[in-house]
Amino acid sequence: MAKRNKASRGKIILVAGGAGFVGSHLCTALLGAGNRVICLDSYLTGSPANLIGLQANPYFAMVEQDVCDEIDIDEPVDQIYNLACPASPPSYQADPIHTMMTSVTGTGNLLRLAERHGATFLQASTSEIYGDPEEHPQQENYWGHVNCTGPRACYDEGKRAAEALCFDSLRAGSVDTRVARIFNTYGPHMRPNDGRIVSNFIVQALKNEPLTVYGSGEQTRSFCYVSDLVDGLIRLMNRKENPAVPVNLGNPGEFTVIELAELVLSRIETASTIVHEPLPADDPQRRRPDIARARKLLGWEPKVPLEDGLTHTIAWFQSALGGSRAERRS
Ligand code: NAD
Ligand code: UDP
Repeated sequence: MAKRNKASRGKIILVAGGAGFVGSHLCTALLGAGNRVICLDSYLTGSPANLIGLQANPYFAMVEQDVCDEIDIDEPVDQIYNLACPASPPSYQADPIHTMMTSVTGTGNLLRLAERHGATFLQASTSEIYGDPEEHPQQENYWGHVNCTGPRACYDEGKRAAEALCFDSLRAGSVDTRVARIFNTYGPHMRPNDGRIVSNFIVQALKNEPLTVYGSGEQTRSFCYVSDLVDGLIRLMNRKENPAVPVNLGNPGEFTVIELAELVLSRIETASTIVHEPLPADDPQRRRPDIARARKLLGWEPKVPLEDGLTHTIAWFQSALGGSRAERRS
């Protein structure tokens, strides 16, 4: 059970996956806006270190548990954000069956909790539901191109099933569900060994190790700074009228992997070079969000350019790794 100060204030908001990269920034923003926050997390890929500064807050409570297990929270929760799921390919492929169950059973458990409390529910879905897309940029009405038997299926298909659970709950009238399709997001609190591109490249450059470009490096991604994403998630959750459709949240700037490697190298004093390694199976070739819907329904668009976001992220990794290497400000 969550231990909390009984004084009333704001909304009571459950953040499943709140000890992770995005979740920890979301918890901070929700507390800062005057709410009470219950973070539910198994620490699978999250960390208590991400919650330093929050743990002492009387309006913050931590529940350590797996979302696949029955969730027993009696407090009258007003909103539930479901971010619980490993997001980096090496992490979600480490125990693929558990990843799938996290999205299916875990989302089902949280939806039941939302129904019990009449809470509004936001599902953190992903651009991965578009798979290796045949349409570009990706609009929400594109149904996707996913290999349901490949090594990414545990994540992609799990998230697609979670979306189906959300929209069935909405149609049944049991839960007010909202679905955000999140594109690649980066920033402080990513794990140094997470395996995702931004954290890999920055950590490799700071350690004077070669930057590992998978395949030719011509594949593209769009990178959203975490504060922009958190703003979009909160807007979607609090929109009075439920959009009743999924909403892409991402930065429409599109970069090749090589371009990102060169950008990181240009901003860090390093002896690192670029090496090529094999492209992982089913690695999507192109990805860029169409955010017309988020602009129209939420009045949202990203504000932080990649260069500025990288500056903040590099500074954070320098401090997290205890290094003193200077960032080049060219
Ligand atoms: P993350 O791995 O840093 O955070 C996930 C959090 O969920 C961690 O704290 C982890 O311990 C927790 N968790 C995982 N499985 C759990 C389980 N079974 N029970 C309880 N807790 C569990 O990832 P992130 O980048 O912060 O992503 C957060 C959410 O956003 C995820 O659902 C992810 O799929 C989604 N998303 C993120 C991105 C991105 O680029 N960061 C892109 C698309 C979607
Ligand atoms: N990637 C890379 N080197 C790395 C990590 C990732 O070239 O060290 C590539 C990866 O093959 C993919 C892109 O960067 O094409 C984004 O990978 P990430 O795992 O960050 O996110 P996702 O593939 O889930 O979008």
